[in-house]
Amino acid sequence: MDSTARHILDLSRRGLLRGATGLAALAALAPAARPALAQPVFRSFPFTLGVASGEPAPDGVVIWTRLAPEPLQPDGGMVRAAIPVAWEVAEDQRFARIAAAGTAIARPELAHAVHVEVAGLAPGRPYFYRFRAGTEASATGRTRTAAAPGAAMDRLRFAFAGCQHYEHGHFTAWKHIAAEAELDFVFHYGDYIYEYRGRVPGQPGWGPLVRPHLGEEIIALADYRLRYAQYRLDADLRAAHAAHPFLVSYDDHEVDNNWAGPHSEEDGRGRFPIAVPPEVFALRKAAAFQAWYENMPVRRTALPRGPDITAYRRMDFGTMARVHVLDTRQFRDDQPCHDGVKPACAEVGRPEAQMLGAAQEAWLLDGMTDSPARWNILAQQVPMMRRVLSGGISMDKWDAYPAARQRLLEGMAARRTANPVVLSGDVHVALAATIRARPEDAASAPVATEFTATSVTSAGDGAAMTPGGEETLRRNPDIALFDGRRGYGVAEATAARMTTEFVALPFVTREGAPREVAARLVVEAGRAGVERG
Ligand code: FE
Ligand code: CA
Repeated sequence: MDSTARHILDLSRRGLLRGATGLAALAALAPAARPALAQPVFRSFPFTLGVASGEPAPDGVVIWTRLAPEPLQPDGGMVRAAIPVAWEVAEDQRFARIAAAGTAIARPELAHAVHVEVAGLAPGRPYFYRFRAGTEASATGRTRTAAAPGAAMDRLRFAFAGCQHYEHGHFTAWKHIAAEAELDFVFHYGDYIYEYRGRVPGQPGWGPLVRPHLGEEIIALADYRLRYAQYRLDADLRAAHAAHPFLVSYDDHEVDNNWAGPHSEEDGRGRFPIAVPPEVFALRKAAAFQAWYENMPVRRTALPRGPDITAYRRMDFGTMARVHVLDTRQFRDDQPCHDGVKPACAEVGRPEAQMLGAAQEAWLLDGMTDSPARWNILAQQVPMMRRVLSGGISMDKWDAYPAARQRLLEGMAARRTANPVVLSGDVHVALAATIRARPEDAASAPVATEFTATSVTSAGDGAAMTPGGEETLRRNPDIALFDGRRGYGVAEATAARMTTEFVALPFVTREGAPREVAARLVVEAGRAGVERG
Protein backbone atom coordinates (compact mmCIF):
# COMPACT_ATOMS: atom_id res chain seq x y z
CA MET A 1 0.00 0.00 0.00
CA ASP A 2 1.50 3.30 -1.00
CA SER A 3 1.41 6.34 1.20
CA THR A 4 -1.51 7.89 -0.68
CA ALA A 5 -3.72 4.90 0.00
CA ARG A 6 -2.60 4.73 3.61
CA HIS A 7 -3.49 8.39 4.07
CA ILE A 8 -6.93 7.77 2.65
CA LEU A 9 -7.44 4.76 4.93
CA ASP A 10 -6.57 6.96 7.88
CA LEU A 11 -9.23 9.36 6.79
CA SER A 12 -11.62 6.48 6.36
CA ARG A 13 -11.28 5.54 10.00
CA ARG A 14 -12.03 9.09 10.94
CA GLY A 15 -15.20 9.18 8.93
CA LEU A 16 -14.58 10.83 5.60
CA LEU A 17 -14.82 7.60 3.66
CA ARG A 18 -17.45 5.26 4.86
CA GLY A 19 -19.81 2.72 3.32
CA ALA A 20 -19.84 1.10 -0.06
CA THR A 21 -19.32 4.26 -2.04
CA GLY A 22 -16.28 5.11 -0.01
CA LEU A 23 -14.77 1.66 -0.41
CA ALA A 24 -15.37 1.72 -4.13
CA ALA A 25 -13.63 5.03 -4.41
CA LEU A 26 -10.79 3.77 -2.26
CA ALA A 27 -10.33 0.72 -4.47
CA ALA A 28 -10.26 2.91 -7.51
CA LEU A 29 -7.73 5.19 -5.96
CA ALA A 30 -5.38 2.78 -4.29
CA PRO A 31 -3.32 1.52 -7.26
CA ALA A 32 -2.82 4.91 -8.83
CA ALA A 33 -0.30 7.44 -7.55
CA ARG A 34 -2.91 10.15 -7.32
CA PRO A 35 -2.54 12.92 -4.79
CA ALA A 36 -4.19 12.29 -1.48
CA LEU A 37 -7.81 13.34 -1.38
CA ALA A 38 -7.98 14.28 -5.02
CA GLN A 39 -11.31 12.48 -4.97
CA PRO A 40 -12.63 12.64 -1.40
CA VAL A 41 -15.88 10.82 -0.87
CA PHE A 42 -18.34 12.26 1.61
CA ARG A 43 -20.76 10.17 3.55
CA SER A 44 -23.36 12.87 2.93
CA PHE A 45 -23.77 16.04 0.89
CA PRO A 46 -21.02 18.48 1.96
CA PHE A 47 -22.50 21.74 0.59
CA THR A 48 -25.32 21.96 3.16
CA LEU A 49 -24.53 25.61 3.94
CA GLY A 50 -24.92 26.71 0.36
CA VAL A 51 -22.91 29.12 -1.70
CA ALA A 52 -22.44 32.88 -1.54
CA SER A 53 -20.71 35.69 -3.34
CA GLY A 54 -19.70 39.18 -2.38
CA GLU A 55 -17.42 42.19 -2.74
CA PRO A 56 -18.25 42.89 -6.38
CA ALA A 57 -15.46 44.63 -8.29
CA PRO A 58 -15.33 45.50 -12.00
CA ASP A 59 -13.13 42.48 -12.71
CA GLY A 60 -14.34 39.91 -10.21
CA VAL A 61 -16.11 38.84 -7.04
CA VAL A 62 -15.49 36.64 -4.03
CA ILE A 63 -17.22 33.28 -4.21
CA TRP A 64 -17.69 31.26 -1.04
CA THR A 65 -18.70 27.88 0.24
CA ARG A 66 -17.98 25.69 3.25
CA LEU A 67 -17.75 21.92 3.45
CA ALA A 68 -20.00 20.70 6.25
CA PRO A 69 -21.67 17.34 5.63
CA GLU A 70 -22.97 17.39 9.20
CA PRO A 71 -23.18 21.11 9.85
CA LEU A 72 -24.46 20.85 13.42
CA GLN A 73 -21.74 18.40 14.48
CA PRO A 74 -18.28 19.41 15.72
CA ASP A 75 -16.06 20.33 12.76
CA GLY A 76 -19.15 20.21 10.55
CA GLY A 77 -18.69 16.46 10.27
CA MET A 78 -15.36 16.93 8.48
CA VAL A 79 -12.03 15.29 9.07
CA ARG A 80 -9.24 17.58 10.09
CA ALA A 81 -7.54 17.55 6.71
CA ALA A 82 -7.16 20.03 3.88
CA ILE A 83 -9.54 19.22 1.03
CA PRO A 84 -9.27 20.53 -2.55
CA VAL A 85 -12.43 22.16 -3.85
CA ALA A 86 -12.79 22.90 -7.56
CA TRP A 87 -14.66 26.02 -8.60
CA GLU A 88 -16.03 27.33 -11.86
CA VAL A 89 -17.45 30.68 -12.94
CA ALA A 90 -19.46 30.79 -16.15
CA GLU A 91 -21.25 33.30 -18.29
CA ASP A 92 -24.29 31.06 -18.54
CA GLN A 93 -26.30 29.02 -16.09
CA ARG A 94 -25.46 25.75 -17.89
CA PHE A 95 -21.72 26.38 -17.61
CA ALA A 96 -21.18 26.12 -21.36
CA ARG A 97 -19.04 29.27 -21.43
CA ILE A 98 -16.55 29.06 -18.55
CA ALA A 99 -15.03 32.41 -17.62
CA ALA A 100 -12.71 31.25 -14.83
CA ALA A 101 -11.97 28.04 -12.97
CA GLY A 102 -9.52 26.67 -10.45
CA THR A 103 -9.01 24.72 -7.27
CA ALA A 104 -9.01 26.12 -3.75
CA ILE A 105 -8.13 24.40 -0.51
CA ALA A 106 -10.74 24.04 2.24
CA ARG A 107 -8.71 24.03 5.44
CA PRO A 108 -9.75 22.69 8.83
CA GLU A 109 -8.26 25.77 10.51
CA LEU A 110 -10.99 27.81 8.79
CA ALA A 111 -13.85 25.33 9.23
CA HIS A 112 -13.35 24.14 5.64
CA ALA A 113 -14.51 27.47 4.27
CA VAL A 114 -13.44 28.41 0.75
CA HIS A 115 -13.07 32.04 -0.28
CA VAL A 116 -12.04 32.48 -3.90
CA GLU A 117 -11.18 35.98 -5.12
CA VAL A 118 -12.12 35.51 -8.75
CA ALA A 119 -10.44 37.98 -11.12
CA GLY A 120 -10.35 38.51 -14.87
CA LEU A 121 -14.12 38.79 -15.30
CA ALA A 122 -15.91 41.38 -17.43
CA PRO A 123 -17.53 44.38 -15.70
CA GLY A 124 -21.21 44.94 -15.08
CA ARG A 125 -22.61 41.55 -15.95
CA PRO A 126 -24.04 38.47 -14.26
CA TYR A 127 -22.06 35.28 -13.75
CA PHE A 128 -22.85 31.83 -12.41
CA TYR A 129 -20.61 29.81 -10.12
CA ARG A 130 -20.43 26.41 -8.45
CA PHE A 131 -18.04 24.22 -6.51
CA ARG A 132 -17.12 20.55 -6.62
CA ALA A 133 -15.48 18.37 -3.99
CA GLY A 134 -14.94 14.73 -4.87
CA THR A 135 -18.02 13.68 -6.78
CA GLU A 136 -20.27 16.18 -5.05
CA ALA A 137 -21.35 19.46 -6.67
CA SER A 138 -22.74 22.51 -4.90
CA ALA A 139 -25.83 24.44 -5.85
CA THR A 140 -25.26 27.08 -8.51
CA GLY A 141 -24.97 30.68 -7.40
CA ARG A 142 -25.60 33.78 -9.42
CA THR A 143 -23.53 36.90 -8.96
CA ARG A 144 -22.71 40.14 -10.71
CA THR A 145 -19.59 42.20 -11.27
CA ALA A 146 -19.53 45.94 -10.68
CA ALA A 147 -19.60 48.39 -13.57
CA ALA A 148 -16.28 49.41 -15.11
CA PRO A 149 -14.47 52.33 -13.49
CA GLY A 150 -15.85 55.55 -14.93
CA ALA A 151 -18.78 53.79 -16.60
CA ALA A 152 -22.10 55.58 -16.47
CA MET A 153 -24.71 53.08 -15.30
CA ASP A 154 -28.37 53.66 -16.11
CA ARG A 155 -29.33 52.52 -12.66
CA LEU A 156 -28.02 50.79 -9.55
CA ARG A 157 -30.30 48.53 -7.52
CA PHE A 158 -29.53 47.19 -4.07
CA ALA A 159 -31.29 45.74 -1.05
CA PHE A 160 -30.34 46.34 2.57
CA ALA A 161 -31.28 44.26 5.58
CA GLY A 162 -30.13 42.85 8.91
CA CYS A 163 -31.13 41.89 12.46
CA GLN A 164 -32.20 38.28 11.97
CA HIS A 165 -32.81 36.77 15.40
CA TYR A 166 -33.45 33.13 14.54
CA GLU A 167 -35.77 32.51 17.47
CA HIS A 168 -38.08 35.39 16.59
CA GLY A 169 -39.37 34.22 13.24
CA HIS A 170 -38.92 32.93 9.73
CA PHE A 171 -36.50 34.45 7.25
CA THR A 172 -39.29 35.20 4.74
CA ALA A 173 -37.66 38.57 4.06
CA TRP A 174 -34.68 36.70 2.61
CA LYS A 175 -36.98 34.67 0.37
CA HIS A 176 -38.32 37.93 -1.05
CA ILE A 177 -34.84 39.43 -1.36
CA ALA A 178 -33.75 36.32 -3.26
CA ALA A 179 -36.54 37.02 -5.74
CA GLU A 180 -35.72 40.72 -6.21
CA ALA A 181 -34.76 41.37 -9.81
CA GLU A 182 -31.30 42.50 -10.90
CA LEU A 183 -29.74 43.61 -7.64
CA ASP A 184 -26.18 44.89 -7.92
CA PHE A 185 -25.65 43.94 -4.28
CA VAL A 186 -27.29 43.25 -0.94
CA PHE A 187 -25.92 45.20 2.01
CA HIS A 188 -26.17 43.28 5.30
CA TYR A 189 -25.65 45.80 8.06
CA GLY A 190 -25.20 43.21 10.79
CA ASP A 191 -26.82 41.18 13.55
CA TYR A 192 -26.50 38.27 11.14
CA ILE A 193 -26.58 36.00 14.19
CA TYR A 194 -27.58 36.62 17.79
CA GLU A 195 -25.31 35.32 20.52
CA TYR A 196 -27.98 34.48 23.09
CA ARG A 197 -28.54 30.99 24.43
CA GLY A 198 -31.43 28.87 23.23
CA ARG A 199 -34.66 29.57 25.03
CA VAL A 200 -36.83 26.78 26.37
CA PRO A 201 -40.52 26.87 25.37
CA GLY A 202 -42.47 28.77 27.98
CA GLN A 203 -39.40 30.59 29.24
CA PRO A 204 -39.99 34.33 29.19
CA GLY A 205 -37.61 36.40 27.13
CA TRP A 206 -37.35 39.04 24.45
CA GLY A 207 -39.47 38.36 21.36
CA PRO A 208 -41.45 35.30 20.37
CA LEU A 209 -39.90 31.83 20.39
CA VAL A 210 -40.58 30.42 16.94
CA ARG A 211 -37.55 28.08 16.68
CA PRO A 212 -34.93 27.83 19.40
CA HIS A 213 -31.25 28.58 19.20
CA LEU A 214 -29.07 25.52 19.81
CA GLY A 215 -26.99 25.57 22.94
CA GLU A 216 -25.79 28.10 25.46
CA GLU A 217 -24.75 31.70 24.90
CA ILE A 218 -21.96 31.50 22.34
CA ILE A 219 -18.46 32.32 23.57
CA ALA A 220 -15.98 29.92 21.96
CA LEU A 221 -15.08 29.46 18.30
CA ALA A 222 -16.97 26.16 18.06
CA ASP A 223 -20.09 27.86 19.48
CA TYR A 224 -19.99 30.68 16.94
CA ARG A 225 -19.41 28.18 14.10
CA LEU A 226 -22.41 26.15 15.19
CA ARG A 227 -24.59 29.27 15.39
CA TYR A 228 -23.68 30.34 11.83
CA ALA A 229 -24.41 26.80 10.65
CA GLN A 230 -27.82 26.83 12.32
CA TYR A 231 -28.73 30.13 10.66
CA ARG A 232 -27.30 29.20 7.26
CA LEU A 233 -29.33 25.98 7.22
CA ASP A 234 -32.32 28.26 6.64
CA ALA A 235 -33.26 27.77 2.98
CA ASP A 236 -34.48 31.35 2.50
CA LEU A 237 -31.19 32.80 3.73
CA ARG A 238 -29.21 30.44 1.50
CA ALA A 239 -31.41 31.40 -1.46
CA ALA A 240 -30.66 35.10 -0.97
CA HIS A 241 -26.92 34.43 -0.86
CA ALA A 242 -27.11 32.24 -3.96
CA ALA A 243 -29.07 34.90 -5.85
CA HIS A 244 -27.04 38.10 -5.31
CA PRO A 245 -23.59 39.32 -4.28
CA PHE A 246 -23.48 40.65 -0.71
CA LEU A 247 -21.61 43.41 1.05
CA VAL A 248 -21.60 42.31 4.66
CA SER A 249 -20.69 44.11 7.84
CA TYR A 250 -21.23 43.19 11.45
CA ASP A 251 -22.90 45.00 14.29
CA ASP A 252 -22.94 43.97 17.94
CA HIS A 253 -24.62 40.55 18.06
CA GLU A 254 -21.99 38.85 15.89
CA VAL A 255 -19.90 39.19 19.06
CA ASP A 256 -21.95 40.29 22.08
CA ASN A 257 -24.82 42.70 22.69
CA ASN A 258 -23.75 46.37 22.59
CA TRP A 259 -20.01 45.77 22.72
CA ALA A 260 -17.95 48.87 22.05
CA GLY A 261 -14.27 48.76 21.08
CA PRO A 262 -12.45 46.72 23.73
CA HIS A 263 -15.45 46.82 26.06
CA SER A 264 -17.97 44.06 26.69
CA GLU A 265 -21.41 45.21 27.78
CA GLU A 266 -20.64 43.33 31.01
CA ASP A 267 -18.99 46.25 32.70
CA GLY A 268 -19.41 45.45 36.41
CA ARG A 269 -22.39 47.76 36.86
CA GLY A 270 -26.18 47.45 36.91
CA ARG A 271 -27.34 44.22 35.24
CA PHE A 272 -23.75 43.01 35.02
CA PRO A 273 -22.15 43.07 38.46
CA ILE A 274 -19.21 40.95 37.28
CA ALA A 275 -17.12 42.74 34.67
CA VAL A 276 -15.41 41.05 31.72
CA PRO A 277 -11.92 42.59 31.46
CA PRO A 278 -10.89 43.76 27.96
CA GLU A 279 -8.08 41.18 27.68
CA VAL A 280 -10.61 38.41 28.32
CA PHE A 281 -13.23 39.94 26.02
CA ALA A 282 -10.51 40.04 23.33
CA LEU A 283 -10.50 36.22 23.29
CA ARG A 284 -14.23 36.19 22.57
CA LYS A 285 -13.84 38.81 19.85
CA ALA A 286 -11.13 36.71 18.19
CA ALA A 287 -13.44 33.68 18.13
CA ALA A 288 -16.40 35.73 16.91
CA PHE A 289 -14.47 37.44 14.12
CA GLN A 290 -12.91 34.19 12.94
CA ALA A 291 -16.32 32.53 12.63
CA TRP A 292 -17.71 35.64 10.90
CA TYR A 293 -14.85 35.55 8.39
CA GLU A 294 -15.27 31.83 7.82
CA ASN A 295 -18.94 32.21 7.01
CA MET A 296 -19.02 35.41 4.97
CA PRO A 297 -18.10 36.04 1.31
CA VAL A 298 -15.38 38.58 2.10
CA ARG A 299 -11.82 39.14 0.94
CA ARG A 300 -8.63 37.91 2.62
CA THR A 301 -8.10 41.44 3.89
CA ALA A 302 -10.92 40.72 6.37
CA LEU A 303 -9.13 37.72 7.89
CA PRO A 304 -8.87 38.66 11.58
CA ARG A 305 -5.61 38.84 13.46
CA GLY A 306 -6.63 37.78 16.92
CA PRO A 307 -9.23 40.29 18.19
CA ASP A 308 -8.50 42.76 15.36
CA ILE A 309 -10.25 42.77 12.01
CA THR A 310 -10.32 45.22 9.11
CA ALA A 311 -13.83 45.25 7.69
CA TYR A 312 -14.23 48.83 6.53
CA ARG A 313 -13.70 49.20 2.81
CA ARG A 314 -15.25 50.82 -0.23
CA MET A 315 -16.48 49.78 -3.62
CA ASP A 316 -17.29 51.79 -6.72
CA PHE A 317 -20.16 51.07 -9.07
CA GLY A 318 -19.10 53.06 -12.13
CA THR A 319 -19.82 56.73 -11.63
CA MET A 320 -23.19 55.98 -10.03
CA ALA A 321 -22.22 55.09 -6.49
CA ARG A 322 -19.33 54.70 -4.11
CA VAL A 323 -20.23 52.46 -1.19
CA HIS A 324 -18.27 53.08 1.99
CA VAL A 325 -18.82 50.07 4.27
CA LEU A 326 -18.15 51.28 7.81
CA ASP A 327 -17.37 49.63 11.14
CA THR A 328 -19.07 51.54 13.96
CA ARG A 329 -18.31 48.93 16.65
CA GLN A 330 -14.62 48.13 16.75
CA PHE A 331 -13.12 51.59 17.11
CA ARG A 332 -15.81 53.48 19.02
CA ASP A 333 -15.68 54.74 22.60
CA ASP A 334 -17.70 52.93 25.19
CA GLN A 335 -21.33 54.07 25.21
CA PRO A 336 -21.56 57.22 27.36
CA CYS A 337 -23.79 57.61 30.41
CA HIS A 338 -23.62 53.85 31.08
CA ASP A 339 -25.56 52.98 27.87
CA GLY A 340 -29.35 52.68 27.63
CA VAL A 341 -31.98 55.21 26.54
CA LYS A 342 -31.84 58.23 28.83
CA PRO A 343 -31.43 62.00 28.86
CA ALA A 344 -27.94 63.02 27.78
CA CYS A 345 -25.45 63.22 30.63
CA ALA A 346 -22.38 65.46 30.43
CA GLU A 347 -20.31 62.69 28.82
CA VAL A 348 -22.37 62.94 25.61
CA GLY A 349 -20.85 66.36 25.01
CA ARG A 350 -17.23 65.12 25.01
CA PRO A 351 -15.51 66.83 22.07
CA GLU A 352 -13.19 63.91 21.33
CA ALA A 353 -16.02 61.36 20.88
CA GLN A 354 -15.13 58.54 18.47
CA MET A 355 -17.60 56.41 16.55
CA LEU A 356 -15.28 55.32 13.70
CA GLY A 357 -11.93 55.91 15.35
CA ALA A 358 -9.46 58.43 13.99
CA ALA A 359 -7.95 56.18 11.32
CA GLN A 360 -11.28 55.08 9.82
CA GLU A 361 -12.67 58.61 10.01
CA ALA A 362 -9.69 59.96 8.05
CA TRP A 363 -9.95 57.08 5.57
CA LEU A 364 -13.66 57.81 5.06
CA LEU A 365 -13.12 61.50 4.42
CA ASP A 366 -10.25 60.65 2.05
CA GLY A 367 -12.65 58.49 0.08
CA MET A 368 -15.08 61.39 -0.08
CA THR A 369 -12.42 63.74 -1.40
CA ASP A 370 -11.85 61.97 -4.70
CA SER A 371 -15.18 60.19 -5.04
CA PRO A 372 -16.30 60.03 -8.67
CA ALA A 373 -19.78 58.99 -7.61
CA ARG A 374 -23.16 60.61 -7.99
CA TRP A 375 -24.22 58.88 -4.76
CA ASN A 376 -21.97 58.33 -1.73
CA ILE A 377 -23.50 55.53 0.28
CA LEU A 378 -22.41 55.17 3.89
CA ALA A 379 -23.28 51.53 4.52
CA GLN A 380 -23.16 51.16 8.28
CA GLN A 381 -24.92 49.84 11.36
CA VAL A 382 -26.66 52.24 13.76
CA PRO A 383 -28.84 55.29 13.03
CA MET A 384 -26.99 58.53 12.39
CA MET A 385 -30.17 60.65 12.36
CA ARG A 386 -31.25 62.75 15.31
CA ARG A 387 -33.78 60.55 17.13
CA VAL A 388 -35.22 61.82 20.39
CA LEU A 389 -37.27 59.20 22.25
CA SER A 390 -39.58 59.62 25.23
CA GLY A 391 -36.79 58.43 27.54
CA GLY A 392 -34.07 60.57 25.96
CA ILE A 393 -31.54 59.42 23.34
CA SER A 394 -30.08 55.97 22.71
CA MET A 395 -26.52 55.87 24.01
CA ASP A 396 -25.65 53.14 21.47
CA LYS A 397 -26.31 55.31 18.38
CA TRP A 398 -24.60 58.31 16.72
CA ASP A 399 -26.85 60.54 18.87
CA ALA A 400 -24.58 59.71 21.82
CA TYR A 401 -21.44 60.57 19.82
CA PRO A 402 -22.49 64.02 18.55
CA ALA A 403 -18.96 65.41 18.19
CA ALA A 404 -18.01 62.47 15.94
CA ARG A 405 -21.15 62.97 13.85
CA GLN A 406 -20.48 66.69 13.56
CA ARG A 407 -16.89 66.13 12.38
CA LEU A 408 -18.14 63.73 9.71
CA LEU A 409 -20.93 66.03 8.50
CA GLU A 410 -18.58 69.02 8.36
CA GLY A 411 -15.90 66.93 6.67
CA MET A 412 -18.37 65.90 3.96
CA ALA A 413 -19.56 69.49 3.53
CA ALA A 414 -15.98 70.74 3.17
CA ARG A 415 -15.40 68.16 0.43
CA ARG A 416 -18.71 68.91 -1.28
CA THR A 417 -19.44 65.17 -1.10
CA ALA A 418 -22.11 64.37 -3.69
CA ASN A 419 -25.41 63.08 -2.32
CA PRO A 420 -24.49 61.28 0.88
CA VAL A 421 -26.98 58.54 1.73
CA VAL A 422 -26.63 56.75 5.05
CA LEU A 423 -27.86 53.17 5.45
CA SER A 424 -28.44 51.78 8.92
CA GLY A 425 -30.47 49.30 10.95
CA ASP A 426 -30.25 48.01 14.50
CA VAL A 427 -33.44 49.58 15.87
CA HIS A 428 -35.81 46.96 14.43
CA VAL A 429 -38.11 49.50 12.77
CA ALA A 430 -37.95 51.13 9.36
CA LEU A 431 -37.09 54.82 9.36
CA ALA A 432 -36.28 57.44 6.74
CA ALA A 433 -34.86 60.78 7.75
CA THR A 434 -33.25 63.99 6.67
CA ILE A 435 -29.91 64.70 8.36
CA ARG A 436 -29.20 68.39 8.88
CA ALA A 437 -25.86 70.19 8.97
CA ARG A 438 -26.30 70.48 12.74
CA PRO A 439 -28.70 67.65 13.58
CA GLU A 440 -29.78 69.28 16.85
CA ASP A 441 -30.68 72.51 14.98
CA ALA A 442 -33.92 72.13 13.03
CA ALA A 443 -33.16 75.38 11.18
CA SER A 444 -29.87 74.14 9.70
CA ALA A 445 -29.70 72.92 6.10
CA PRO A 446 -30.38 69.31 5.07
CA VAL A 447 -27.05 67.69 4.11
CA ALA A 448 -27.68 63.95 3.96
CA THR A 449 -30.44 61.37 3.81
CA GLU A 450 -30.77 58.21 5.87
CA PHE A 451 -32.64 54.97 5.30
CA THR A 452 -32.87 52.58 8.24
CA ALA A 453 -33.87 49.01 7.45
CA THR A 454 -36.18 47.28 9.89
CA SER A 455 -35.25 43.81 11.16
CA VAL A 456 -35.63 40.61 9.17
CA THR A 457 -37.13 38.92 12.24
CA SER A 458 -35.89 40.54 15.46
CA ALA A 459 -38.75 41.42 17.84
CA GLY A 460 -41.19 39.16 15.95
CA ASP A 461 -44.40 40.27 14.25
CA GLY A 462 -44.72 44.02 14.44
CA ALA A 463 -47.31 46.62 13.56
CA ALA A 464 -47.06 49.37 10.98
CA MET A 465 -47.62 52.00 13.63
CA THR A 466 -47.10 51.78 17.37
CA PRO A 467 -47.36 54.30 20.22
CA GLY A 468 -43.56 54.51 20.15
CA GLY A 469 -43.67 55.18 16.43
CA GLU A 470 -46.20 57.98 16.82
CA GLU A 471 -44.01 59.48 19.51
CA THR A 472 -40.90 59.18 17.29
CA LEU A 473 -42.61 61.04 14.45
CA ARG A 474 -44.04 63.69 16.79
CA ARG A 475 -40.71 64.46 18.46
CA ASN A 476 -38.57 64.26 15.32
CA PRO A 477 -39.89 66.25 12.36
CA ASP A 478 -36.90 65.17 10.27
CA ILE A 479 -38.00 61.53 10.45
CA ALA A 480 -40.34 61.09 7.50
CA LEU A 481 -41.20 57.43 7.89
CA PHE A 482 -41.79 54.94 10.68
CA ASP A 483 -42.88 51.36 10.08
CA GLY A 484 -42.73 48.80 12.88
CA ARG A 485 -43.09 45.63 10.81
CA ARG A 486 -40.33 43.24 9.73
CA GLY A 487 -38.81 43.46 6.27
CA TYR A 488 -36.03 45.17 4.32
CA GLY A 489 -35.26 48.05 1.98
CA VAL A 490 -34.62 48.01 -1.74
CA ALA A 491 -33.27 51.09 -3.47
CA GLU A 492 -32.84 52.10 -7.08
CA ALA A 493 -30.50 54.95 -7.95
CA THR A 494 -30.33 56.81 -11.23
CA ALA A 495 -28.42 59.98 -12.00
CA ALA A 496 -31.54 61.96 -11.12
CA ARG A 497 -32.88 60.31 -7.96
CA MET A 498 -32.80 57.44 -5.52
CA THR A 499 -36.08 55.67 -4.84
CA THR A 500 -36.24 53.44 -1.80
CA GLU A 501 -39.00 50.94 -1.18
CA PHE A 502 -39.53 49.71 2.34
CA VAL A 503 -40.82 46.17 2.11
CA ALA A 504 -42.91 45.11 5.11
CA LEU A 505 -44.09 41.64 6.03
CA PRO A 506 -47.40 41.29 7.86
CA PHE A 507 -45.96 38.43 9.99
CA VAL A 508 -42.82 36.36 10.55
CA THR A 509 -43.97 33.95 13.27
CA ARG A 510 -45.56 31.93 10.47
CA GLU A 511 -44.10 31.21 7.04
CA GLY A 512 -45.40 32.58 3.78
CA ALA A 513 -45.83 36.29 4.45
CA PRO A 514 -46.41 38.23 1.23
CA ARG A 515 -44.23 41.11 0.06
CA GLU A 516 -45.92 44.44 0.69
CA VAL A 517 -44.45 47.84 -0.10
CA ALA A 518 -44.97 49.88 3.07
CA ALA A 519 -43.61 53.11 1.66
CA ARG A 520 -41.68 54.49 -1.27
CA LEU A 521 -39.38 57.44 -0.59
CA VAL A 522 -37.48 59.57 -3.04
CA VAL A 523 -34.26 61.56 -2.76
CA GLU A 524 -33.58 63.92 -5.62
CA ALA A 525 -29.92 64.24 -6.62
CA GLY A 526 -28.59 67.55 -5.40
CA ARG A 527 -31.24 67.92 -2.71
CA ALA A 528 -30.69 66.07 0.57
CA GLY A 529 -33.70 64.78 2.47
CA VAL A 530 -36.66 62.54 1.86
CA GLU A 531 -40.06 63.07 0.38
CA ARG A 532 -43.01 60.73 0.06
CA GLY A 533 -42.77 59.31 -3.49
FE1 FE B 1 -30.50 43.69 16.10
CA1 CA C 1 -27.50 45.62 16.86
